[in-house]
This record gives sequence, C-alpha cells and structure tokens, in this order.
Amino acid sequence: THFGFREVAETEKERLVGQVFSNVASKYDIMNDAMSAGVHRLWKDRFIRQLAPPPGTKLLDVAGGTGDIAMRFLNYCRNAHHDHTAHVHLVDINPEMVNVGRQRFHNTVYDLKSQVDLSVGNAEDLADIPSDSKDAYTIAFGIRNCTHVDRVVREAYRVLKPGGRFMCLEFSRVENPLIAPLYDLYSFEVIPAIGQVIASDRESYQYLVESIRRFPSQDQFADIIRGAGFSVVGKGYENLTFGIAAIHSGFKL
Ligand code: SAM
Repeated sequence: THFGFREVAETEKERLVGQVFSNVASKYDIMNDAMSAGVHRLWKDRFIRQLAPPPGTKLLDVAGGTGDIAMRFLNYCRNAHHDHTAHVHLVDINPEMVNVGRQRFHNTVYDLKSQVDLSVGNAEDLADIPSDSKDAYTIAFGIRNCTHVDRVVREAYRVLKPGGRFMCLEFSRVENPLIAPLYDLYSFEVIPAIGQVIASDRESYQYLVESIRRFPSQDQFADIIRGAGFSVVGKGYENLTFGIAAIHSGFKL
C-alpha cells in the first residue's frame, strides 16, 4: 500500500482512535498549534466565516473535541450580530475530550450555559439527536477518524432541517507537484518527531498522518456528500493551503 502502512481492521481502527485521543486529550490543543504552526486557527476561523450563521442558529458540532469550532461559532454570533440565542450541541465519542471542552466553556467571561450542550456520542449513530432538528452541522478534523464516512454523512443529513447546511473541515490531498514532496517530508518525518517531543507519543501522530493519507480525495468526498442527498454548489469544496485541508459543504434541500 501507499507508503507501506498496513490496512487497519475496523475494530482495530476504533480501538486505535479511542487510544489516540485519550493519549493526547490533555496535549491536544498545544499539539495542534505545534504541528500546524498555528495555521489550524486560521482554517477554523475561515470555516466559521463561511458558515456565517444567522441569529438563532442551532448548530450540531460533531467530533467537537475540546470545542474549537463550538467556541468560534458562539463568538461569531456574538460579534457579528450580538446574538445570544444561537445554540451549539457538541458531540464527541471521547469523554476526556468532552470534559476538556466542558471546562473551557465554564471558564469563559460570558455565561454560556444556556447556549451550549455537550454529550458523548458516535458520529455514525446520533440516536439522541432528533431528525430535522438542526440548522447546521459541522465536523472538523473528525470524520477522517470514523469507520464509515458514508454513515456519518447520512446521519448529518437526517438531523438537519430542510434548508440546513452540512460543513466539514478536514485534511485533504495536496496535488501541487512542488508542494507535495515537501508536505510528505513534513508529514512522515517532522510530525511524528514533534509528537515524540511534546506528547511523548510518536505512534499516535504516525497514525494521524496515515489516516490523512487514507481519507478520500476532495472529489471523492464531494461524491459521498452528494450520495447522501445533499445539494452542493460548484465542485462542493474549497482547498485551504494547497489542499492540506479542505472545506466541504452541502445543503439539505
Ligand atoms: N473538532 C475539534 C477540532 O477541530 O479541534 C476536534 C478534532 S479532533 C482531531 C477529532 C475528534 O474526533 C476527537 O475528539 C475524537 O474523539 C473524535 N471522534 C473520533 N471518532 C469519532 C466518532 N466516531 N464519533 C464522534 N467523535 C469521534
């Protein structure tokens, strides 16, 4: 296979994902900054600006982790239109990530309790979320870790109201022939080394790099989104930083 990594069986994958995020929960935020030189912040800012939630938006943020997207969403609503009625429900499969997120919302100067819910759950089966109940669905750097990407997207479709919007921020493919070899070098040499130094965990970050390479290309993923019933505008995605990441978007019409 590509770069010599082996295919990981499904249950093995679920075990690995659980382990990876338990290992890194406390170091998670600092690792993101270290690996991306802070650029993940700009991508997330852009992601929320693109969503441009109107007042009162009910967002479901899946694989929400420590709350980067949820927090940006609420800040955007406050800053753009003094909106205190927007609501975000953060779901993540890992209780430790959810706890770090919960702490974060408790430590803000605003009282956000009425605007945030957090729960532990699986993106592939959001049984606790009613159908046709959300205005927007976001998943940032999370779908890559899921076993059945198509099930995740179909669940997103189910929980969105008609007119609702699906948005995904995820690592993607670099096609530029000048950038691609540099990105490979960075991915396979530098990132595991940073993981070793900061989180004392080389394996988890090797897994991270490999999971990025296994995820579908921009166009393949756009097809999955269409296949779940979403309508997409144009090719359905926008590349960020040469395609190191991409924003995919679709509407439930
Ligand atoms: N969205 C956050 C952000 O952008 O900072 C967190 C991203 S973090 C890289 C990926 C998250 O996906 C982890 O918190 C992990 O627990 C969660 N995750 C992995 N598989 C999941 C699944 N099947 N359902 C829900 N969350 C999952």
